[in-house]
Amino acid sequence: MKIIVCVKQVPDTTEVKINKETGTLIRDGVPSILNPDDANALEEALRMKDANKDVHITVVSMGPPQAEEMLRECMAMGADEAVLLSDRAFGGSDTWSTSNAIAAGIKTLGEFDIIFAGRQAIDGDTAQVGPQISEKLGIPQVTYVQNFEIKENKEVIVQRQLEDGHEMIKVKTPVLLTAVKELNQPRYMALDKIFEAYTKEIKVLGINDLDITTDDVGLKASPTRVFRSFSPDMKTAGVMIDKAPKEAALELLGHLKSKHFI
Ligand SMILES: Cc1cc2nc3c(=O)[nH]c(=O)nc-3n(C[C@H](O)[C@H](O)[C@H](O)COP(=O)(O)OP(=O)(O)OC[C@H]3O[C@@H](n4cnc5c(N)ncnc54)[C@H](O)[C@@H]3O)c2cc1C
Repeated sequence: MKIIVCVKQVPDTTEVKINKETGTLIRDGVPSILNPDDANALEEALRMKDANKDVHITVVSMGPPQAEEMLRECMAMGADEAVLLSDRAFGGSDTWSTSNAIAAGIKTLGEFDIIFAGRQAIDGDTAQVGPQISEKLGIPQVTYVQNFEIKENKEVIVQRQLEDGHEMIKVKTPVLLTAVKELNQPRYMALDKIFEAYTKEIKVLGINDLDITTDDVGLKASPTRVFRSFSPDMKTAGVMIDKAPKEAALELLGHLKSKHFI
């Protein structure tokens, strides 16, 4: 069975702080990490490989050359090979352009059974790239996957997370599944695999290696533009309601109503 896992290198947003004087983001010294949902996606592929040695896992990422570091971490966790889609022409891509490049990269890898992606990346936060890849490859997708089972006849029974429960969906491979954190607990890199991961070659593909042109990727091809980015206003100080429980509750109710929270 051939599995592809889409992985993105992201800044660790838990480490990003706001400069109180300028109101801008402090990015210095912020480490880059494997996007958390993608770690769940990879873990699921690795569990399938643990159960069946015939499973082959390829991790695919679109990003700058430094994304190689994260791809090596994925191989140190147990992925078999890594592909980096990297080209100046990809710079400034929005989700449409990003998924064009990733879908074209996946097409160069031949047949596959399952593509895993994360539900969402913690920097862009759109949750659009996975579904767009499936559309461009013409395969079914199930998002918010919190559990699944593969049957003999290429059937996949998926438990899809909903706000107030879950739904069961039956699909056939090839399929794209997007992982949520409830799916599993990602493993650490294996000591014996770390050395091997640093000796393995990472396949780097540029725009000329893919069946796409500059009409499909990059800033110019992107239907959306980031017009302005700014730090959100700081939260104002809280208000203490120092009254008897009943009056305090009534005043709180008034505050919530005035802000249209209820
Ligand atoms: C106009 C515009 C310009 C932009 N310019 C830039 C720019 O110059 N530089 C820049 O870094 N970003 C840029 N971005 C952000 C970029 O579009 C997003 O980072 C990218 O499209 C992925 O979207 P997302 O982060 O919301 O991922 P989501 O859709 O939230 O990710 C879902 C899943 O898709 C997969 N995935 C997402 N991105 C990748 C990837 N690159 N490789 C492999 N798998 C992936 C992962 O499995 C991930 O968990 C720009 C965005 C816009 C709208």
